Amino acid sequence: MLIISEQKTKRWVRKWEPHKHCTVCGLAMEPDPDNDFCSSECETKYRKWEKKQKKKDKTFTYIMIGSVVLIIVIMIINFTLMGG
Ligand SMILES: [Zn+2]
Repeated sequence: MLIISEQKTKRWVRKWEPHKHCTVCGLAMEPDPDNDFCSSECETKYRKWEKKQKKKDKTFTYIMIGSVVLIIVIMIINFTLMGG
């Protein structure tokens, strides 16, 4: 079996050169508008976090909608009882 070691292409930038920081670990890297991460590892981490956040937001939206619907239903029931 052939073992191919994966070569990591981590390029370091000097402090005085224009650079930006990795969104996840904050490591200085070359300014690339298409890449916000220093490595695929950091990108995976970020995507996982993003997914979690989106799920959280979705749950919150459902709770909000549920509350509004519940209030409307209670109002309708009250109105019906008072009217009848
Ligand atoms: Zn990073």
